[in-house]
Amino acid sequence: MTPDEIVTLRQELSDKSPEQALEWAFSHFDHGKIALATSLAAEDQVLTDMISRIDQHPTMFCLDTGRLFPETYETLERTRVRYGVSIELLSPERTEVEPMVLEHGPNLFFQSRELRKLCCQVRKVNVLGRKLAALDLWITGLRREQAITRVGRSMLEWDESFGLFKLNPLHAWSTDEVWRYIRKHDVPYNPLHDRDYPSIGCAPCTRAVSPGESIRAGRWWWEETEEKECGLHWHDGKPMRAKDVK
Ligand code: SF4
Repeated sequence: MTPDEIVTLRQELSDKSPEQALEWAFSHFDHGKIALATSLAAEDQVLTDMISRIDQHPTMFCLDTGRLFPETYETLERTRVRYGVSIELLSPERTEVEPMVLEHGPNLFFQSRELRKLCCQVRKVNVLGRKLAALDLWITGLRREQAITRVGRSMLEWDESFGLFKLNPLHAWSTDEVWRYIRKHDVPYNPLHDRDYPSIGCAPCTRAVSPGESIRAGRWWWEETEEKECGLHWHDGKPMRAKDVK
């Protein structure tokens, strides 16, 4: 994919709503080669609702790190029932997890940034890479407003790291727009959102936020802001950080 071709496609999508962008994706790509990567977060639930109106058997998957909140699994179950969709739970390789935990312990992420990244690599990034290898386009719930590390997001990107298109239908939506959609369509959502968890990841690495804190302040709260990405989303060959944002 050349930069010119990506620019052309971006222009084609520039004035489209999230629903129109999803319809574009499902009309331009083989349905079996498109998937929603869902963490059951509010944005992903909006996309699940939208996609289930377009495709009766969409491919959806969730990275089951083994450290998710019970509320996240409950939300997954309610979503399966509500929409009649299958959501693949992708587990990390036992041969990668067991030696890591044996050497560094189950809560290695608190010891150093390097070990936190190792845990995210084994439990998330490697699992995602294996799944994306079979796809042509993945759909994400990324929004620019979520973090300074995500300001540069656009509707359509070429994911250099994994070698496929990435569609971010909600990239320009505000938090209010997400929640207006959820209320209007009675979309099931993770009850942790009602307990001051605007961003929900693994249980040991996520806490509630206080009034005035940023959306992602509760993720890896012991680390510096500019380093707070897990490596799933890359830009120019490296995870997006504050210093990469022009
Ligand atoms: Fe490990 Fe925490 Fe990353 Fe989850 S968020 S994979 S528990 S370091």
